[in-house]
Amino acid sequence: MHWGRLWVWLCLALCCAGVPAGATEPVVVQLNWKHQFEFAAFYAAERQGYYQALGLDVRLVEGGPGVDVVQEVVEGRADFGVGTSALVVDRARGQPVVALATMMQHSPLALLASRAAGVKSVLDLAGRPVSVTPHTRDEIEAFLRVSGLSPEQIQLVDQADWTLEPLEAGKVAAEAVYLSNEPFLIRGREHQFLLLTPRSAGIDLFGNMLFSSRAAVAARPQVAAAFREATLRGLVYALANPEVLTDQILADYNTQGKSREHLLFEAAQIRELTRPDIVEAGYMSPGRWRHVVDVYVRQGKLPKDFELGDFLFDAQPSTRVPPWLVGALVASLVALLVALGVVAKVRGLNRALRGEMGEREAAEEALQTREAQYRELVENANALILRLSPDGTVTYFNECAERFFGYPAAEIVGRSVIGTILPAQDERSGRDLGVMLAAILSDPTSSSSEHNENENITRDGRRVFVRWANRAIRRPDGSLAGLLCIGQDVTARRVMEQELAAHRSLLEEQVALRTMELAHAKEAAEAASRAKSAFLANTSHEIRTPLNAITGMTHLLRRSGVNEDQAQRLDKIETAGQHLLEILNAVLDLSKIEAGKLSLERTGVVVDAVVHNVVAMLHDRAIAKGLVLAVDLQTGLPPLLGDPTRLQQALLNYGSNAVKFTGEGGRVHFRSRLVEENAAGLLVRFEVEDTGIGIAPDKLGQIFWAFEQADSSTTREYGGTGLGLAITRKLAALMGGAAGVSSEPGVGSTFWFTARLARGVFQPVTGLLPDPDEAEALLGERFAGQRILLVEDDEINREIAVEMLAETGLLIDTAEDGLIAVEMAAATDYALILMDMQMPRLDGLQATLQIRALPGRAGTPIVAMTANAFAEDRARCFQVGMNDFIPKPVEPDLLLQVVLKWLERHLSGV
Ligand code: ADP
Repeated sequence: MHWGRLWVWLCLALCCAGVPAGATEPVVVQLNWKHQFEFAAFYAAERQGYYQALGLDVRLVEGGPGVDVVQEVVEGRADFGVGTSALVVDRARGQPVVALATMMQHSPLALLASRAAGVKSVLDLAGRPVSVTPHTRDEIEAFLRVSGLSPEQIQLVDQADWTLEPLEAGKVAAEAVYLSNEPFLIRGREHQFLLLTPRSAGIDLFGNMLFSSRAAVAARPQVAAAFREATLRGLVYALANPEVLTDQILADYNTQGKSREHLLFEAAQIRELTRPDIVEAGYMSPGRWRHVVDVYVRQGKLPKDFELGDFLFDAQPSTRVPPWLVGALVASLVALLVALGVVAKVRGLNRALRGEMGEREAAEEALQTREAQYRELVENANALILRLSPDGTVTYFNECAERFFGYPAAEIVGRSVIGTILPAQDERSGRDLGVMLAAILSDPTSSSSEHNENENITRDGRRVFVRWANRAIRRPDGSLAGLLCIGQDVTARRVMEQELAAHRSLLEEQVALRTMELAHAKEAAEAASRAKSAFLANTSHEIRTPLNAITGMTHLLRRSGVNEDQAQRLDKIETAGQHLLEILNAVLDLSKIEAGKLSLERTGVVVDAVVHNVVAMLHDRAIAKGLVLAVDLQTGLPPLLGDPTRLQQALLNYGSNAVKFTGEGGRVHFRSRLVEENAAGLLVRFEVEDTGIGIAPDKLGQIFWAFEQADSSTTREYGGTGLGLAITRKLAALMGGAAGVSSEPGVGSTFWFTARLARGVFQPVTGLLPDPDEAEALLGERFAGQRILLVEDDEINREIAVEMLAETGLLIDTAEDGLIAVEMAAATDYALILMDMQMPRLDGLQATLQIRALPGRAGTPIVAMTANAFAEDRARCFQVGMNDFIPKPVEPDLLLQVVLKWLERHLSGV
């Protein structure tokens, strides 16, 4: 308790102690409204015996509509009353009122306007009815004037009742309300209303005033002082014990039928407006009074030179002793004389107390100044500052928070932070904010409690984001008194982050969608390509069969004897058929490669032989055109593994083109080069350079595509399908290399491709072969004199093969084509037949079929010898009954080994 007040209390108690028992002073108090928490100070003083202790017998008279408290007091029907700061205006108007104390540091008065009526600010009240009561009229008028309304625009009407009905029915645009009362009635519907507080316009008046009349104070100054003291003590008690007082009101004074919740709400609001923890109860700062007077002077309600004078009651015990106290004082004096020593001591003590009191008052004043400075600082700080009680109730709300959240402090203080500015759940993350708050309040010192960022909600329902720094406020005993929260608006940043995240996920979605579409498109394209290749493969195959019949019949016709003219026509049919077959083979190859069905052989590769073979194949055509064929080969290559047939095919495509597109007297140069060498193998480059017509630069990029030709006129002049280069490039790619060209129109072209070839010596897989070094000798020893047949249409190749077998002592007959071979096989039982595959008149496959059909020839070993050594060709050889397969170019050792193997099997039964 304040020391000054303690002293007064002691004096009063001493004085009153002298009053004879039962000599209590009757006191009548006129309230300005019906019983409610607003008057809890009186109930508390009564219940706690504060009045009784000072010899006062207090009777409370309820107020209500039509009761003019000032008149009641001035006319002596009541000793004390509860009014507003407008009492000072009454005083200026001649009413002899005296202000004893303020029971609220700030006025609870406010205006409640309806948003439905279109009120967005106080200025919208111009010319519209605003309802007030006699004791709210002056203050509200001052508020409206300061807010910028002219006297003509202010239209105050008498408030018929204290319900919100006239406002809600639109009969008035705004209604004077108490912050401690009506905001409770509109809970949950806040957004429909606008709460306008005079404080927001810079008017800060005192709230409820305890007052008396000049006459009453003069007659019983001690009673006034005692009544003031006991009431203020009651006020402090009531605000510290809202639950107790609420119970008391519910039991004894609840004439309005208010709910417990409503009364507790009122208690919290009044506590906020009174702040007994900061300002001494009842204290009326002279500075604040100057402000009050100024406000009313500006309204013209007080004269400019108005002096407060004895309007303010001197709360110190008066030196004038009222008559009723004389007896008591005499009695006290006697008692004091008897105990003189004690009295002297008490006086000494009193002196010391007075001195101390003076110091205390000075300290108190300094404290209040400082407090005011801090308060101003906090209220004007550009940060959201609020205080929560340990159960999450808002106990302080600064101006910045008021502006930001749209709640006046008076409205939110006393309410839980959950459901007001803190939604139960974070809308976006779904986080339970109640749980978060409980965690912070239960352990405010943990690092996660000291800072948190969460969604908040403004009074008009906007979702905002605030970063909070929280500090626990502790009582001296260490228990938690509350939480100080300082917030910063981070909505813009969060919105930006959320937008970014949304964009990111949208982008990711779009990318995923596009990727899926592309995958589908790719799949569809691949499926279409596969279907096309399958179609081409089937078609080519189907055409080949009748083509065989055509060429076969041509041979038969020729054999049956034809004249010169017919022979020439048969030649043309044959040439056309051969051309068609080449085209078919090319289409088939390409479609097989594209369908991924072409598998490469892995057998011995002799690069020189590959090139020589191609040159040999083109020899006749080159001679016919008067071209020179030149060869320049890489020397020193190790034994290699790969697919010689495909290599040869790739090179032959280049060679054929070079011969085709080079004119008389030109030159075609074949080259092989080692490009790269590593442990896995070698990259070999094949080149065909010609001095032909060349290719225009703008066509170079296309000619490697299937069915593309540099110039459509070349088709007419040179023929061709546009498949050769495409096949070569694809074969090169299959062999781990690439293909390309450089060319100059009119000068010539250089086509090249590369292929990766592994190191290694080919080991044939068809059965065990005899040792190559011994094969020749063994053949000579065991089979010299045996007769074998070599079927080969190419004269040079025939000679080479005969030459290879010359040392064995075998007798070798030769046939130039399949038909001759069949005839010879019918006549002679050969020990073995070496059969070329592609031959004029009758090919190796057909010849084999026919030989096998001859009597006694079913077991004759027939070994295929062919350049078309594709895996599928080999399969076909076995299908028609051939026994083995030697790829071209023929390796001498392999030839000897295979011949030995089959002679042994056939003749010796090994
Ligand atoms: P084709 O020769 O069957 O038309 P290719 O794919 O082999 O198909 O060749 C495609 C085209 O490239 C040819 O039609 C021709 O226009 C051009 N071309 C190929 N080789 C040469 C070359 N050595 N000199 C000039 N043009 C060539």
